[in-house]
Amino acid sequence: MRICVIGGGLCGLVAAERLTARFDIEILERNPVLGGCLGSFRKQEYMLENFYHHCFPNDTAFFSLLDMLGLSADLRWFHGSTGSFENGKVFPLTTAREILRYPALSLVEKARLALLTLRAGSIDLAPLDQVSATEYIIDRLGDRVYREFFEPLLRSKFGDARTDVSAAWLISRIAIRSHRGAAGEKLGYPNGGFQRVIDALEKKIRTAGGSIRTGTPVTGMRRTNGTWEVNGESYGAVISTIPPHMLAAIGGPPAPVIPYQGACCLAIGLEREITDGVYWVNMKEAAPYGAVIAHTNFAPRQWYGEDIIYLASYFTGCPAPDVERRMLADFRERFHVQPGEIHWTHLSTECLAGPVYVRGYRDNIPAYRENGLYFAGMFSRPNYPERSMEGSVRAGSDVAAEVLARGE
Ligand SMILES: Cc1cc2nc3c(=O)[nH]c(=O)nc-3n(C[C@H](O)[C@H](O)[C@H](O)COP(=O)(O)OP(=O)(O)OC[C@H]3O[C@@H](n4cnc5c(N)ncnc54)[C@H](O)[C@@H]3O)c2cc1C
Repeated sequence: MRICVIGGGLCGLVAAERLTARFDIEILERNPVLGGCLGSFRKQEYMLENFYHHCFPNDTAFFSLLDMLGLSADLRWFHGSTGSFENGKVFPLTTAREILRYPALSLVEKARLALLTLRAGSIDLAPLDQVSATEYIIDRLGDRVYREFFEPLLRSKFGDARTDVSAAWLISRIAIRSHRGAAGEKLGYPNGGFQRVIDALEKKIRTAGGSIRTGTPVTGMRRTNGTWEVNGESYGAVISTIPPHMLAAIGGPPAPVIPYQGACCLAIGLEREITDGVYWVNMKEAAPYGAVIAHTNFAPRQWYGEDIIYLASYFTGCPAPDVERRMLADFRERFHVQPGEIHWTHLSTECLAGPVYVRGYRDNIPAYRENGLYFAGMFSRPNYPERSMEGSVRAGSDVAAEVLARGE
């Protein structure tokens, strides 16, 4: 049977790899290259992700994928430190001592925050899906902890949509990110970057006889005589990895709208280190970017021969006009960077960068099979309440297992 996989991101590639031995698989990807949100660009001698990426110690499905692709030995573990930029400087917030020294919160507020962090992993998330993160934090930790600590974090992650986000998202996020030692969180990154995972998947699929068509957006589909017609070609089954409501817009079955947000990342190659050794710096003050992510304060600088940072911002709808110029001008002024210290810049924009985990999101998560179609992606259950590479690997494997179980 001929199966069409819509989308050549991580989820589509994983599903296709699992199925190529049994079926005639064809991946249709709108972009000229594979990878979706995990795509990369070439810079001189190295590849770099369009959007900052790292994996976490409990990403077990992702590790199994690396094993299968023969890449496990290339995964390196580093410490990811965090900080906050305020009043013109970076406040490191990684170690207990640094947090104790942080002036914006009182000792009691810090103790309450520490307690929530310790408990986060054991909190039942189901009822929190209906509660707003803002209300939850203000109720439990007070207005000041929200304003000084959580609001900048939510703003950097969700922009204007931050007050709609559920407490389930926030608590799960705290739980994931609280596995940290004295030097910070343990985060993984492969030697050569995540593009190696995409390349290895592509090679496996092609070697097994699967077909991959990049630069091929799906613009129309319809059901005819028990089969699906996609872009005018007939398939026995379709696995869609794009948001179900986007599929509905091009002829797929009706689906509830899952709110998505966009992301802009401006990668910058630099002459020198900028964030006092900290990997992830949240901007407490309003800026055209919510975080500065210093890639080479995480992955070794010698891999690249220069410092690399990302300025990251999330948006709803369309990115702000002139976003690259505004980000760069603000960054140069705020961090005192001279034009000659900038080697290059690379802007990446993705309008479907991830679901916004608004209240009630859980009830709208689509099943893997609905209306005779297969669905899997960032909107699937393993990506709730935080989308990740791990979640998309699981969703891709799960949907492939559904297809195999039906033997279609
Ligand atoms: C800024 C940012 C930072 C991130 N950081 C991390 C991180 O540090 N750690 C982590 O684990 N995860 C991170 N993620 C999440 C991770 O990248 C995603 O969860 C994962 O890559 C999603 O894969 P996917 O295949 O489900 O979706 P996508 O990557 O969105 O793939 C969908 C594919 O469908 C294609 N497509 C869309 N419409 C059509 C159409 N009409 N026709 C054909 N093709 C179409 C798209 O081009 C895309 O390639 C990050 C994501 C972003 C945006």
